[in-house]
Amino acid sequence: MTTAAYDVAVVGGGIVGAAVAAELAGERSVVLLEAEPDFGVHATGRSAAMLTQTYGSEEIQELTAASRPAFEGALAERAGAAILRSRPVLWTGKVSDVLLPELRRLAASGSAPGVEWLTPPEAERLAAAIDPETIDLACLEPDAASIEVDLLHRTFLKIAAERGATILRNARFLGARRHERGWKVDLQGDIVSAGLLVNAAGAWADEVAAHAGLSVRGLVPMRRTVLIATCDPPAAPAWPFVVDLDDRFYFEAEGTQVLASPADETPVPAGHPRVDELDVALCIERLHERTRLRIRRVTNSWAGLRTFTSDRLPLVGPDPSEPTFLWAAGLGGFGIMTSPAIAKLIAMHADGAPPSRLAKALLPDRKALRPGRRQAAG
Ligand SMILES: Cc1cc2nc3c(=O)[nH]c(=O)nc-3n(C[C@H](O)[C@H](O)[C@H](O)COP(=O)(O)OP(=O)(O)OC[C@H]3O[C@@H](n4cnc5c(N)ncnc54)[C@H](O)[C@@H]3O)c2cc1C
Repeated sequence: MTTAAYDVAVVGGGIVGAAVAAELAGERSVVLLEAEPDFGVHATGRSAAMLTQTYGSEEIQELTAASRPAFEGALAERAGAAILRSRPVLWTGKVSDVLLPELRRLAASGSAPGVEWLTPPEAERLAAAIDPETIDLACLEPDAASIEVDLLHRTFLKIAAERGATILRNARFLGARRHERGWKVDLQGDIVSAGLLVNAAGAWADEVAAHAGLSVRGLVPMRRTVLIATCDPPAAPAWPFVVDLDDRFYFEAEGTQVLASPADETPVPAGHPRVDELDVALCIERLHERTRLRIRRVTNSWAGLRTFTSDRLPLVGPDPSEPTFLWAAGLGGFGIMTSPAIAKLIAMHADGAPPSRLAKALLPDRKALRPGRRQAAG
């Protein structure tokens, strides 16, 4: 058995853990623990890879806007290539009472520059797949972008390593016990001691908390399906990322094929989700019903987990009962585009700085959360 001591142990090497390790390393000794032999095999490697400042609540939009300068500046510089590529987002839908809150949210997207409303024929001119007869309105976010997720992830890991972080693969966190100066973490025989634990274990974050003797926060992993297919008309690279306002599908061009999702949200246990063929069929049915796309052949499909809290805001900050255990979890469908801002908030908590207004809204002890009653085993 070996023992090593660090200031901080980050559990989980997805995009959030990697961003946090890069941010905290340098001034502190940091170890990043990833259970898998590779990084990014879970949510991070299965996303739609978009940055859109009209997505989600005000808080999510604020986190995304705060992250954008890092993607365009320091991170691109360290990566030696662009992390963002222009890909406008086009929300489309029919006017209905159900949509009113969505429309108000879009209209109030103050952080997204240049957002404009389009008529159905104007929307059709942006993508031949849009059927103007099936929509009443469209809203264009011209400055949205696709994210080079793999490059971003590798860049965070590179920065962390250059700043002296120890990065361990095949290092599954099995449990942790408090001792007088922090935590003793059990890694299948090896022990790591750390003053601070950061829980960035994605869909497994509640499990990690339970194995540290803390209460779970009621995180729910939800399966989302993505497919790539040949189609008529063939997709064109200039198409925007088209999202149904009613959350029934989205699609974008992937070369001349289309990448699409039925925007499904099926609660499942943490794990490796399999594609359910019914979700693939549902996606095709919705595209045929609401767009001009005709799917010819599905060439690839996958499912990934988006993990949510009960109020759909992330958990960022100290555990309510243990200030040396920081949560960086519940990143739902926005963990890539907000990762630099989440890492900055974690650094602020690690420094013991007073939380900003946004940081307070994301604290794990907030009243709006319904953490569930399951108490940790210890
Ligand atoms: C289909 C789909 C589309 C999406 N689209 C977008 C999008 O367009 N834009 C966007 O910003 N986000 C999007 N997301 C969401 C985004 O992918 C997630 O929010 C983000 O990847 C979460 O990162 P994470 O690091 O928290 O989780 P993960 O990437 O799951 O990383 C958690 C890591 O913790 C490790 N781990 C778990 N348990 C342990 C343990 N006991 N010990 C050690 N390590 C452990 C896991 O192996 C894993 O590598 C999408 C997600 C899906 C599924």
